[in-house]
Amino acid sequence: MRVSRVLAINPYIYDFAAYNFWSSPLGLLYIAGILRHNGLHVDLIDCMSVREDGRKPDGRAPFVKQSVPKPNTLKGVRKTLRRYGMPPEDLRTLLETMDPPDIILVTSIMTYWYVGAMEVVNLAREVHPRSKIAVGGIYPTLCREQASVGFAAADLVVSSGEMARFYGFIEAGTGRNLAFTPFMDNLDILPYPAHDLCREIPFVPLLTSLGCAFRCTYCATSYMYPAMARRGVDSVVDEILHWHDRDVRRFVIYDDSFLYGSSHHAKPLLRRIASLPFPVDIYNPNALNAAFIDDETAALLVRSGFREVRIGLESVDPDRQARTGGKVTGAVFERAVAALKRAGYGRGEIRAYILAGLPRQSWQEVREAIDYVKALDVTPSIAEYTPIPHTALFERYKDSARFPVADDAIYQNNAIFPYAWEGFTEEDLNYLKRYAKEG
Ligand code: SF4
Repeated sequence: MRVSRVLAINPYIYDFAAYNFWSSPLGLLYIAGILRHNGLHVDLIDCMSVREDGRKPDGRAPFVKQSVPKPNTLKGVRKTLRRYGMPPEDLRTLLETMDPPDIILVTSIMTYWYVGAMEVVNLAREVHPRSKIAVGGIYPTLCREQASVGFAAADLVVSSGEMARFYGFIEAGTGRNLAFTPFMDNLDILPYPAHDLCREIPFVPLLTSLGCAFRCTYCATSYMYPAMARRGVDSVVDEILHWHDRDVRRFVIYDDSFLYGSSHHAKPLLRRIASLPFPVDIYNPNALNAAFIDDETAALLVRSGFREVRIGLESVDPDRQARTGGKVTGAVFERAVAALKRAGYGRGEIRAYILAGLPRQSWQEVREAIDYVKALDVTPSIAEYTPIPHTALFERYKDSARFPVADDAIYQNNAIFPYAWEGFTEEDLNYLKRYAKEG
């Protein structure tokens, strides 16, 4: 029987700023792993090429980029629009040199990056008119109607909770039954993501849990994953061993709520990682929750290889902290920082995310948070607010942004500062970014 062939594509993106901050098309690579487990042949085109000569010791790297003209929708934005990743001509050449795949999978991640994904789908349709094309990812999950209209050239547009529909599409497109059809929240039984299809594996993202018990008003995690799912410690450690055998030394925790219920999850896992016969480097671009950092956790973070610790503070305004979800208070944050310092984290090794650009937020509130964080000898990192559909803040303020964020996801890009107003202008934001970096 002929082996069915699948091509997975991570598209290039258009944005005003982008950098490979330990990013990886993890969902697509998990799907590739599942399909291989079913005996299908899978190829990958990862259009998000980086400049290897600019890669940092921690694994981050600049994307290949090129300035491009702005579409009419973004004409008024006084910034340079760029395409990040492989040029379309190169993608076309790659597509033209391969036999037509039975199935082409395209992932569409951040909502405001959909334009690149649509171009890639249209190009794939043109070069391989008989292949069946499916699009999935965060954009179709959060913006279902817009995605269904925009990806008209695809045969299937699927959200993350529709795995049965997706498997049915693969079976129809390949003419074979899939014996292994797990749901994505069954983390223990998923095959490892197919990182081996990538040219380089500078780091491996680890998903040890899905979902979050909190309901912060700016965050879509609870919409994407309504129930929390945890992975067993053995399964995570086995994956680390698997990739370590393939020379991977850097691991990145992708969980949204890694430390929640840590006695039964993070602590035993960190103990096991700390007892491995080799060191690893671990990073956590998705912040840890300060409420769960006690002395034992802080010591385990050091021993297991967390090279730095990122915490989500977001605001120092107690009212704002309570109204947006109550995940942290000043006292909780200070206790966590003290524990991390006692465990040995020094200057530059503890970072705090501070949200900037929330609806009707004043720039002074952000400067106050920066001052507070600096006074604790913690490095402030400004996280520009992104309006995300299906979050409480989005629903409440979608009609008061200076761009029509609900009508076109392209306006959900935090780089265009959708909620700028006279009390918090773009100039204020630029000042705060500089201020956060000072001394
Ligand atoms: S704690 Fe973090 S992951 Fe959980 S809802 Fe809040 S921002 Fe989202």
